[in-house]
Amino acid sequence: MALLELRDIQYTVSGRNILAGLTLAVVAGEVHALLGTNGTGKSTLASLIMGCQGYSPDSGEIRFTGTLINDLKIHERAQLGISMAWQEPARFEGLRVRDYLTLGMVAERPESALRLVGLDPSRYLDRMVDRSLSGGERKRIELASILALRPKLAILDEPDSGIDLLSTDDIIRVLDHLRNGGSAVLLITHRDEIAAAADRASQICGGRIVCTGNAGQVTADFKSKKCISCDGEVCSDE
Ligand code: ADP
Ligand code: MG
Repeated sequence: MALLELRDIQYTVSGRNILAGLTLAVVAGEVHALLGTNGTGKSTLASLIMGCQGYSPDSGEIRFTGTLINDLKIHERAQLGISMAWQEPARFEGLRVRDYLTLGMVAERPESALRLVGLDPSRYLDRMVDRSLSGGERKRIELASILALRPKLAILDEPDSGIDLLSTDDIIRVLDHLRNGGSAVLLITHRDEIAAAADRASQICGGRIVCTGNAGQVTADFKSKKCISCDGEVCSDE
């Protein structure tokens, strides 16, 4: 049984089909990259899995460890072991960084979590999570919280524009760390080198997963041919 199973997910916003029969499985412990051009619905899918406010599939099943979670709230999904970082606004405003990093069931020391995202613990542990941190620092601290939490499933949605917060090597190190700690990762990135470092990858196009396989292979195909089976528009037939 897969850790996360999405079956035939349909999702429409303002009369527009974003997801149209999307099926995907993420296996426990794997890093699974999700590839797709801008606007294909990757972040939308991440929000549907996490159960962010306002996001609920029109039809289809979201199962986590076999349990149907379509109707669970975001905090209930978090309690089951799903966490999301990067495109979600930082929560827990007003806590000290050290308290933010030790909120959950902590397997990891907050110091090492901060080092893994390139922040010096002696400079950050006693800072407040508030506007005094830059956007980049907040995002790094959010990523550190995922490392500290060791969720069963981490959804990492890398911002697709602007400056890359972490180097490719840094992110690959973070992924290795999560993998070694037993977390599965659904990885959304615009960087081919990072996607290729995943275990498996799936390509989303036209509201569906059009292929799944070895990460290096799927990434190379995506890079060379973009979509292998359609023009990127959600197909209304079938
Ligand atoms: P990706 O992350 O793959 O770049 P998104 O999931 O952000 O894509 O968006 C998928 C599509 O859904 C885009 O065309 C976007 O414009 C549209 N979309 C996302 N959210 C909304 C919304 N609240 N209202 C209308 N359209 C939306
Ligand atoms: Mg996105």
